[in-house]
Amino acid sequence: MSPVRVEEQSPTCLLYRDLHGKKPETVVEAKGSYLYLDDGRRILDACAGAAVASIGHGDQRVIRAVGSQMATLSYHHTSRLTNPAAETLGQNLVGHRPGGLSHAIFLSSGSEANESAIKLARQYFVEMGQVDRIHIISRNNSYHGNSIGCVSLTGIPSRRRYFEPILMQHTSRVSPCYPYRYKADQETDESYAERLADELETEILRVGPRKVAAFFAETVGGAAAGNLTPVPGYFKAIRRVCDKYGVLLVLDEIMCGMGRTGKMHAWEWEDIQTVGKGLNGGYQALSAVLMQQHVVDGLKRGSGAFANGQTFQCHPAAAAAGVAILSIFESDDIVAVCAKRGAENKQTKETFSKDLPLASKLDNAIFARGVSIYSGFGKGTADGVVGDHILFSPPLNISSAEIAELVEAVRYGVEEVFASAD
Ligand code: PLP
Repeated sequence: MSPVRVEEQSPTCLLYRDLHGKKPETVVEAKGSYLYLDDGRRILDACAGAAVASIGHGDQRVIRAVGSQMATLSYHHTSRLTNPAAETLGQNLVGHRPGGLSHAIFLSSGSEANESAIKLARQYFVEMGQVDRIHIISRNNSYHGNSIGCVSLTGIPSRRRYFEPILMQHTSRVSPCYPYRYKADQETDESYAERLADELETEILRVGPRKVAAFFAETVGGAAAGNLTPVPGYFKAIRRVCDKYGVLLVLDEIMCGMGRTGKMHAWEWEDIQTVGKGLNGGYQALSAVLMQQHVVDGLKRGSGAFANGQTFQCHPAAAAAGVAILSIFESDDIVAVCAKRGAENKQTKETFSKDLPLASKLDNAIFARGVSIYSGFGKGTADGVVGDHILFSPPLNISSAEIAELVEAVRYGVEEVFASAD
């Protein structure tokens, strides 16, 4: 492949953070767990893009499936037509979930899926005659996407800063389940979960129980603060509170779903669930809103259709990629492989000065060692995030040797950054 150089003044330069004035590197090829740069360097993609490349890059099975779909049916409008790939993908995603989600719609990004979930929750209550339900509660230290609705729910001050006056008015946020930082020493998992459920209940009562439409949460928090894994019993307690007040529980599994936690879905007690990244593996732009039968029934009792048309929804080529990826999940036992390789070990809770800035330095040093990681938002307490963090989210089928390479690069990166700080 002939190298394409990004000019010094890249036309896309506004997209890049933390490059300190340097031009972005150019990636020209990707295979398996590796990216190949135009200068010949090979980079281990230890963040799978942004927790996207679930089965690794360049898998010919997906490429063939997308190519063949493109050759047969590249596009159609969805006002009255569907296509076999979207129907198969829907069946594969929601067809095997006893008592769980029953319907799916397909969009192109996580932001669009969450934006649609906001609208679905609202339309559901309008159709049910509960028109006062206009308020959505989400959590601090959360990220839900890029669009105005999603930023309105997102609990990262720096993501909201410029847009605050034009965000949705009827939203508020409660504490995330962040045991690593906020569970008191003497507190059990159960009492911590109950404390957070009480906080949600207090917020619902403050807003007015008949005004709250939905509670939005990432099942496992991702981009905002590192890996926020809830304590056992947290979502059970949250579900109880939501049920008590008729509030829909919407779980954003754009990042943590589709095998990333060692299970296909991080949780299965939601009314509405969104998935993205791992579902498309980076091969096509594809996300989904999955919903329970009772949500669908609510719409059916009213207008009968979700008022949410998008030009590229249920795109056949994107759906074909999703179908191929789910079939690879099964044939290559991707979720079990990921669960086996993903064991963690956390030792210290000490934080670093936000002036360093450590996450960005580590990111650069580790990249220089040939490994790409997920850049942390380590902006210190001003951003509602305690301490710097970096995040690894490699392809789910990364090999043990590649994990060793990743760990080695991180070790070098850490040593180098700390040696230069001495
Ligand atoms: N929700 C979560 C939890 C995410 O991590 C992201 C992206 O990082 C999004 C939503 C937005 O997805 P997208 O960037 O595909 O719009």
